[in-house]
Amino acid sequence: MRLRAHHLLCLLGFRGLGYSPEFVENMSHIAERLRSFPQIQLEILGQPDDICSQCPFLGEGGCQDKGPQSEEERRKRDLDVMERIEVEEGGKLTWSEAEERIRSALTPGDLERICRDCEWLPQGYCTQGLENLIKRAEGR
Ligand code: SF4
Repeated sequence: MRLRAHHLLCLLGFRGLGYSPEFVENMSHIAERLRSFPQIQLEILGQPDDICSQCPFLGEGGCQDKGPQSEEERRKRDLDVMERIEVEEGGKLTWSEAEERIRSALTPGDLERICRDCEWLPQGYCTQGLENLIKRAEGR
Protein backbone atom coordinates (compact mmCIF):
# COMPACT_ATOMS: atom_id res chain seq x y z
CA MET A 1 0.00 0.00 0.00
CA ARG A 2 1.28 3.48 -0.82
CA LEU A 3 0.67 6.16 1.81
CA ARG A 4 1.86 9.72 2.03
CA ALA A 5 3.47 10.20 5.42
CA HIS A 6 1.00 12.65 6.95
CA HIS A 7 -1.83 10.25 6.13
CA LEU A 8 -0.43 7.90 8.77
CA LEU A 9 -1.63 10.49 11.29
CA CYS A 10 -4.97 11.03 9.51
CA LEU A 11 -5.61 7.27 9.69
CA LEU A 12 -5.21 7.29 13.48
CA GLY A 13 -8.00 9.85 13.73
CA PHE A 14 -10.24 8.65 10.91
CA ARG A 15 -13.89 8.40 11.95
CA GLY A 16 -15.63 7.81 8.66
CA LEU A 17 -15.66 11.45 7.56
CA GLY A 18 -14.08 12.89 4.42
CA TYR A 19 -14.39 14.80 1.20
CA SER A 20 -16.91 12.68 -0.76
CA PRO A 21 -18.72 9.31 -0.46
CA GLU A 22 -16.07 7.68 -2.70
CA PHE A 23 -13.29 9.15 -0.60
CA VAL A 24 -14.86 7.87 2.64
CA GLU A 25 -15.49 4.41 1.21
CA ASN A 26 -11.89 4.11 0.03
CA MET A 27 -10.34 5.44 3.24
CA SER A 28 -12.63 3.20 5.35
CA HIS A 29 -11.46 0.21 3.33
CA ILE A 30 -7.80 1.19 3.82
CA ALA A 31 -8.25 1.79 7.58
CA GLU A 32 -10.03 -1.57 7.94
CA ARG A 33 -7.28 -3.42 6.06
CA LEU A 34 -4.62 -1.88 8.29
CA ARG A 35 -6.55 -2.81 11.44
CA SER A 36 -7.01 -6.40 10.23
CA PHE A 37 -3.51 -6.84 8.79
CA PRO A 38 -1.04 -4.70 10.80
CA GLN A 39 1.91 -6.43 9.10
CA ILE A 40 0.87 -5.03 5.75
CA GLN A 41 3.82 -3.37 3.98
CA LEU A 42 3.58 0.37 3.35
CA GLU A 43 5.61 2.51 0.99
CA ILE A 44 5.92 5.95 2.58
CA LEU A 45 5.50 8.84 0.16
CA GLY A 46 5.70 12.60 -0.08
CA GLN A 47 3.24 12.70 -2.97
CA PRO A 48 -0.31 11.55 -3.80
CA ASP A 49 -1.13 8.05 -2.54
CA ASP A 50 -3.82 5.39 -2.31
CA ILE A 51 -6.01 7.73 -0.22
CA CYS A 52 -5.63 10.71 -2.59
CA SER A 53 -6.55 8.44 -5.51
CA GLN A 54 -10.27 8.72 -4.62
CA CYS A 55 -10.18 12.34 -3.46
CA PRO A 56 -12.12 15.00 -5.37
CA PHE A 57 -9.25 17.44 -4.73
CA LEU A 58 -6.63 15.39 -6.55
CA GLY A 59 -5.74 17.19 -9.76
CA GLU A 60 -2.89 17.64 -12.14
CA GLY A 61 0.18 18.31 -10.06
CA GLY A 62 -1.27 16.65 -6.98
CA CYS A 63 -3.42 17.97 -4.14
CA GLN A 64 -5.52 20.98 -5.11
CA ASP A 65 -7.48 21.16 -1.87
CA LYS A 66 -6.92 24.90 -1.32
CA GLY A 67 -5.50 25.65 -4.75
CA PRO A 68 -2.30 25.00 -6.69
CA GLN A 69 -0.08 25.53 -3.64
CA SER A 70 -1.70 22.68 -1.73
CA GLU A 71 0.51 19.86 -3.01
CA GLU A 72 3.63 21.70 -1.87
CA GLU A 73 2.09 22.34 1.54
CA ARG A 74 1.02 18.71 1.95
CA ARG A 75 4.44 17.54 0.84
CA LYS A 76 6.09 19.71 3.51
CA ARG A 77 3.82 18.05 6.07
CA ASP A 78 4.80 14.62 4.71
CA LEU A 79 8.52 15.45 4.95
CA ASP A 80 8.07 16.72 8.50
CA VAL A 81 6.41 13.42 9.54
CA MET A 82 9.06 11.36 7.70
CA GLU A 83 11.84 13.17 9.51
CA ARG A 84 10.19 12.69 12.90
CA ILE A 85 9.53 8.97 12.43
CA GLU A 86 12.90 8.47 10.71
CA VAL A 87 11.87 7.03 7.40
CA GLU A 88 13.16 8.05 3.99
CA GLU A 89 10.86 8.94 1.14
CA GLY A 90 9.99 5.66 -0.58
CA GLY A 91 10.97 3.74 2.56
CA LYS A 92 9.05 0.64 3.61
CA LEU A 93 7.40 0.05 6.97
CA THR A 94 4.63 -2.21 8.18
CA TRP A 95 1.59 -0.46 9.66
CA SER A 96 2.56 -1.89 13.02
CA GLU A 97 6.08 -0.40 12.73
CA ALA A 98 4.63 2.93 11.62
CA GLU A 99 2.34 3.00 14.68
CA GLU A 100 5.27 2.19 16.96
CA ARG A 101 7.43 4.95 15.48
CA ILE A 102 4.62 7.49 15.72
CA ARG A 103 3.98 6.47 19.32
CA SER A 104 7.60 6.92 20.34
CA ALA A 105 8.33 10.05 18.28
CA LEU A 106 5.21 12.20 18.52
CA THR A 107 3.17 13.81 21.26
CA PRO A 108 -0.32 15.26 20.79
CA GLY A 109 1.32 18.71 21.06
CA ASP A 110 3.39 17.94 17.96
CA LEU A 111 0.20 17.68 15.91
CA GLU A 112 -0.47 21.35 16.68
CA ARG A 113 2.73 22.15 14.81
CA ILE A 114 2.73 19.54 12.05
CA CYS A 115 -0.97 19.89 11.20
CA ARG A 116 -1.53 23.54 12.13
CA ASP A 117 -3.05 24.43 8.73
CA CYS A 118 -5.32 21.37 8.56
CA GLU A 119 -9.06 21.95 8.81
CA TRP A 120 -9.55 18.59 10.55
CA LEU A 121 -7.25 19.27 13.50
CA PRO A 122 -9.77 21.43 15.44
CA GLN A 123 -12.22 18.49 15.45
CA GLY A 124 -9.83 16.77 17.86
CA TYR A 125 -10.15 13.31 16.26
CA CYS A 126 -6.49 13.06 15.23
CA THR A 127 -5.28 14.17 18.65
CA GLN A 128 -7.55 11.58 20.28
CA GLY A 129 -6.32 8.95 17.82
CA LEU A 130 -2.72 9.62 18.83
CA GLU A 131 -3.64 9.69 22.53
CA ASN A 132 -5.36 6.31 22.15
CA LEU A 133 -2.33 4.86 20.39
CA ILE A 134 -0.09 6.01 23.28
CA LYS A 135 -2.54 4.66 25.89
CA ARG A 136 -2.80 1.28 24.14
CA ALA A 137 0.99 0.93 24.20
CA GLU A 138 1.16 1.89 27.90
CA GLY A 139 -1.44 -0.77 28.76
CA ARG A 140 0.53 -3.52 27.04
S1 SF4 B 1 -5.67 15.06 -2.58
FE1 SF4 B 1 -5.13 16.45 -0.90
S2 SF4 B 1 -7.01 16.69 0.33
FE2 SF4 B 1 -7.23 14.87 -0.98
S3 SF4 B 1 -6.53 13.14 0.31
FE3 SF4 B 1 -4.76 13.80 -0.92
S4 SF4 B 1 -3.67 15.28 0.42
FE4 SF4 B 1 -5.76 15.02 1.25
